[in-house]
Amino acid sequence: LTRGYARPLDAAGTAWNDIGGLEPVKLALRQAVEWPLVHRATFARLGLRPCRGVLLYGPPGCSKTSLVRAVAATANAAFFSISGAAVYSAYVGESERIVRSLFQRARAASPSVVFIDEIDTIVGKRALGGGGGGGGGDTVQERILSALLNEMDGIESARDVLVLAATNRPDMIDAALMRPGRFDRVIYVPPPDAAARLAILEIRTRGMPLEQGGVDLAAIAARCDMFTGADLGAVCREAATAALRAGDRAVRQAHFEAALEHIVPTLSAEMLAQY
Ligand code: ATP
Repeated sequence: LTRGYARPLDAAGTAWNDIGGLEPVKLALRQAVEWPLVHRATFARLGLRPCRGVLLYGPPGCSKTSLVRAVAATANAAFFSISGAAVYSAYVGESERIVRSLFQRARAASPSVVFIDEIDTIVGKRALGGGGGGGGGDTVQERILSALLNEMDGIESARDVLVLAATNRPDMIDAALMRPGRFDRVIYVPPPDAAARLAILEIRTRGMPLEQGGVDLAAIAARCDMFTGADLGAVCREAATAALRAGDRAVRQAHFEAALEHIVPTLSAEMLAQY
């Protein structure tokens, strides 16, 4: 009866089929988040400990946040989300308080999921050496990190609080967070390959009147190496805008060509080498 009841994040939620490609990632996420909730008794009977933290990493604009929204919309759990940048820029002392109260609320509402976006901004490795820096153990980041570790270590699995986090900079995550019982599942969200790019273009043009038989989305997808999902969204928007400017009733291949001329892909081989 309670299945599908409205939760705060539902309104902004993304459906799984609004995300093109990434089938293995979607499955891994559902296994980590939904299975322990849905099959709670089975997990307990088999002596399986549900995973406590899941870290999503990968290049920007490739749907980490959208994946989390989809989980939020489908998992039968309360969702709490914060952005690392917002926590980091809070007033002195306020950051740790934000972390603590977030977990307090999540525990009270369990089963629940805490999502920390851009986690590298709050628990990044200490500033790289240089004169006089570090050592003291009392930088803002260190204090936030210890607050976060405290909260994560404090969650008993019975309490059903799962921590999800996302980052574009896995190299910046403090090793302490990766110990067992903390982020014990790490999932790479790769940039879209040609098939995924086609799926994304199809999703992004769903509501558009494309010229019948005239637009070859597969050919466009094949050409868009190094484009992120966000870039592909921009290509579709640009193409539609070009049609509007030209007073065309349909979006044509030429409009996509025009869009491709000035949308520069976000990714580069150099950037991807770090993943
Ligand atoms: P960032 O690291 O910059 O926050 P992100 O990886 O969290 O990026 P999102 O914010 O989820 O990415 O995606 C950016 C935009 O691109 C969103 O509007 C999203 O809808 C679109 N997008 C990205 N990947 C896909 C995809 N695979 N299918 C459909 N849309 C996508």
